[in-house]
Amino acid sequence: MKKYASEGEDMYLNRDVITLAQAKERLAAVAPKKITQEKQVEETLGYILAQDIIAPFPQPAFRRSGYDGYGILAEDDRDYPITLTLAAEVPAGSELKKKLQPKETIRIMTGAKVPDEVAKVIMLENTHMLADGKVVIKAGSRNDNITPIGEEFEKGAVLLTKGTLINAGAISLMSAFGFATCLVYKRPKVAILATGTELLQPKDAPVAGKIYNSNGPLLEALVKENGGKVVYCGQIADDIKSLEEKLDDLAKKADLILTTGGVSVGDFDFLAVAAKESGQLLFNKLAMRPGSPTTAFVYEKTLVMALSGNPGACFTGFYLLFESLLQNMQGNSTEIKITKMKLAHDYQKPNSFDRYLRGTWEETATGKVVSLVGSDQSSALGNLHLTTCFFKIPHDTVVTAGTEVEVWCLPYK
Ligand code: AMP
Ligand code: MG
Repeated sequence: MKKYASEGEDMYLNRDVITLAQAKERLAAVAPKKITQEKQVEETLGYILAQDIIAPFPQPAFRRSGYDGYGILAEDDRDYPITLTLAAEVPAGSELKKKLQPKETIRIMTGAKVPDEVAKVIMLENTHMLADGKVVIKAGSRNDNITPIGEEFEKGAVLLTKGTLINAGAISLMSAFGFATCLVYKRPKVAILATGTELLQPKDAPVAGKIYNSNGPLLEALVKENGGKVVYCGQIADDIKSLEEKLDDLAKKADLILTTGGVSVGDFDFLAVAAKESGQLLFNKLAMRPGSPTTAFVYEKTLVMALSGNPGACFTGFYLLFESLLQNMQGNSTEIKITKMKLAHDYQKPNSFDRYLRGTWEETATGKVVSLVGSDQSSALGNLHLTTCFFKIPHDTVVTAGTEVEVWCLPYK
């Protein structure tokens, strides 16, 4: 087995460059299909509905009193003030068992079922009770204060459509119609593997020449933020055997594998080797900066997205390539929105590849303005938490302040 990129043939060095759009197409072609699952409604916050939700009954399902007050018959609704006999009390949740007779009234509460024969509910404020228990209705009411059956939804109305992102309101709507479960798209199972002999874990003491693994936790948070289920997050040294063993194991556990590091053409870039040897390389060179060696391949039927180890490139690569994949698998097919903003400053570092820079934007008197946040170096990690957008500097271009550039606001999708 080939161990080093510099050994023998140069197949690891000669890479076909493709565009970001082509890379996304290749990923979409092999991305796992959306899977649906039945879930308890109260556990579906943030999931996407995989079915239409249809009203099984009208809403309200019965004539509903809008106020606390007294129900009267149509024939008594004249010659105010009137004195009526109190026949019964109807609190919310109960039902009058007998039929209301002329000259009788019921005391009824907000939300209670109004008997069919009752024409109006007179608000409590317009009544008073006499010592003998009779009720005086001082004045009539223009409104009947009764919400008719089906006023908000007829039976069979579409309450929520397939593809809806379930928020608190959607949960309440399904609950109001008695749904215990609903069909949603499953959260993809994602395994995250950071590779690099230089990587330390938080519990480790600092060691000369080594660095703490920050991409692992970065990717874990990004996957979670995008609804993925992290089934593994770990790190390994640069060693082809450990890598292949790990990939074998993770391919069984996860729907998608996300790695960082080892994709360049250096001597210890074993992800690049594994990608080639998988026989199902999708790409290993993108016409973009940062992260041009970003690689994708299929390993034991599982898609592996291998991001660069440089923190800035890893962060950018996640958003540009992986975020929409994760979101699509969960039923979110929203298109990425590109907006145009004026660049606040010059950017005069032409490159043969398009640059996707980390930025922030603000609203000014003359419109939205975007600027670089922190360093543009792919090794920089101090600006990831400040990034609110990406903006593009097209290849072979020098841009001056005030030039309109394409911007993708975060969340990217
Ligand atoms: P590589 O892509 O493996 O060539 O790594 C490129 C650069 O990113 C090197 O300086 C690595 O030390 C650094 N790097 C690799 N993996 C990580 C990681 N998990 N966290 C932070 N930096 C990393
Ligand atoms: Mg490395």
